[in-house]
Amino acid sequence: MGKIVAIANQKGGVGKTTTAVNLSSCVAALGKKVLIVDLDPQGNTTTGYGIAKRSVEVGTYELLVQDAETRQAIRKTEFRTDVIPSNTRLAGASLEMVDLPGRESRLRKALAQVQQDYDFIFIDCPPSLDLLTLNGLCACDSVLIPIQCEYYALEGLSELISTLKTIRKKYNSYLDIEGVVFTMYSGRYNLTLQVVEQVCKYFGPKVYKTTIPRSIRISEAPSYGQPINFYEPKGKGSEAYMDLAIEFVKSNRPHDAAPRRKKAKA
Ligand code: ADP
Ligand code: MG
Repeated sequence: MGKIVAIANQKGGVGKTTTAVNLSSCVAALGKKVLIVDLDPQGNTTTGYGIAKRSVEVGTYELLVQDAETRQAIRKTEFRTDVIPSNTRLAGASLEMVDLPGRESRLRKALAQVQQDYDFIFIDCPPSLDLLTLNGLCACDSVLIPIQCEYYALEGLSELISTLKTIRKKYNSYLDIEGVVFTMYSGRYNLTLQVVEQVCKYFGPKVYKTTIPRSIRISEAPSYGQPINFYEPKGKGSEAYMDLAIEFVKSNRPHDAAPRRKKAKA
């Protein structure tokens, strides 16, 4: 059974999607079978993998709202990673799901159909705490948190921690923290060091040793529809995400695979 990892942080612009696209691609490059689910109506993971949003007929929206077959929504890519794409229809899903049965566990049910086909399934969550993100957090075994080292990072983090507590209590008692990664990192600034110190104090060994540097190449790769390890295989961005992938895979050796989870309340 593949492990499901949500990439989440309520703060926008911290590098969730960038990490989702590049980490999933680098984990696939290590020989793992990988699926990524675009749970953000903006569809940046979709375009980051070179899929035109307007071409998406069956995607995350159809899984969540119309009970589409999960395999029908999966797109093979030339980057070894499979993608469940999204498009703007997904923006309405939160409202449309409100009256559907098991509204917060719809993604979990959909992914259960294909979980045995993959080693890892990543979910790129939107920057909000609506029903979409709730579906992401209820579907996953663990959450990977990208943090940008800036003044407001800690504020957003305490919100995220209390959200995770609530989710564990109400819906998904096995929800684990996969790890914390610093994005757009520049060790030169005092503020960066202060944020790093605080985050490490709280998360301890969950903080990845690998940090992701700020890089123009990382930010321009999506406009070419390519993950960084294809766009600039030998650059520092690619190197950093490959290092993160290695760290991630090492910390997920089979013996510490996720435990079977309790059924969430409908
Ligand atoms: P989120 O998904 O959390 O909203 P994104 O991954 O979309 O964040 O990143 C926000 C912006 O920051 C994007 O324009 C992205 O290209 C840029 N960005 C993310 N990571 C890096 C990085 N390591 N170096 C440079 N720019 C980055
Ligand atoms: Mg995003």
